[in-house]
Amino acid sequence: MAGSIAFIGLGNMGGPMAANLVKAGYDVKGFDLSTESREAAIAAGVSVTSSAVDAVRDADVVVTMLPAGKHVLSVWTELTGAVKPATLLIDCSTIDVESARQAHALAKAAGCLSLDAPVSGGTVGAAAGTLTFMVGGADEAFARGEPILQTMGKRIVHCGDAGSGQAAKICNNMILGITMAGVCEAFVLAEKLGLSHQALFDVASTSSGQCWSINTYCPVPGPVPTSPANNGYKPGFAAALMLKDLMLSQEAAKASGATTEMGAHAADLYTRFNELGHGGDDFSGLINFLRDNGRG
Ligand code: NAD
Repeated sequence: MAGSIAFIGLGNMGGPMAANLVKAGYDVKGFDLSTESREAAIAAGVSVTSSAVDAVRDADVVVTMLPAGKHVLSVWTELTGAVKPATLLIDCSTIDVESARQAHALAKAAGCLSLDAPVSGGTVGAAAGTLTFMVGGADEAFARGEPILQTMGKRIVHCGDAGSGQAAKICNNMILGITMAGVCEAFVLAEKLGLSHQALFDVASTSSGQCWSINTYCPVPGPVPTSPANNGYKPGFAAALMLKDLMLSQEAAKASGATTEMGAHAADLYTRFNELGHGGDDFSGLINFLRDNGRG
């Protein structure tokens, strides 16, 4: 087991992830800019330091869980000047592929190993230790990081070299945004045609329309009792985060020259849904916006 782990970014995801490392017996030092996050981390057994540099100085492994690429690059620039040589740096945030590759380059220049390892599974998966990690980086870095990621997740997929984890994450979430919009449109059309929600679910969830957005996360109340539609569209997975991931997919499509017309359309729908003040709703609440012809 790696001796000491530093964890920077102890928010909604990072807090419970760091707590699972503590539970597994690691010595975890942590830092966050927010007082509230620091206090919650102390209660979970993390030794909170007064700066990120203090947390990483003696660490064998550093994990970051931050909002966006600019935060990761700024923190990694600071930390790579303070860590021991050969430290493993793992970024679990969801960020753009280009920033992820720049972060790997910073680590390499400092003589460190690095992984991009974004997650799916949300705050529930972070607390339960059941996240899926999509991992990019060299084999040697993956071999060192895998046991640590296993403490926080149940499925760890090595997707390829630097940036591949972020690439897998945004491709997956672009599929999710598109399929959810399609499933919402189908339920709205069914309503207009006088077809019941249950009838459409019974057919589509067992036919060629089946997908996670209908089978597991059905956007109308009733057919899947655990879906957020049964709980007033409380997240779950907030529409603001879905929009973030769709925008990352569109930036990546532009930079790489890929044609993603459905992804662009889903990004536009979620932009309008967010602009109407629904960023804190579950992303399946898009059905109410579509039912109301984009006004609701
Ligand atoms: P969050 O805002 O709750 O946590 C981010 C934390 O980073 C905050 O506590 C903030 O104070 C801290 N921070 C920012 N800059 C810092 C710095 N320079 N030094 C130290 N701490 C700093 O966000 P979250 O929900 O935990 O998400 C984190 C990442 O995980 C994001 O990239 C998000 O897209 C991704 N993600 C979130 C979910 C989810 O359901 N919340 C699911 C999958 C992936």
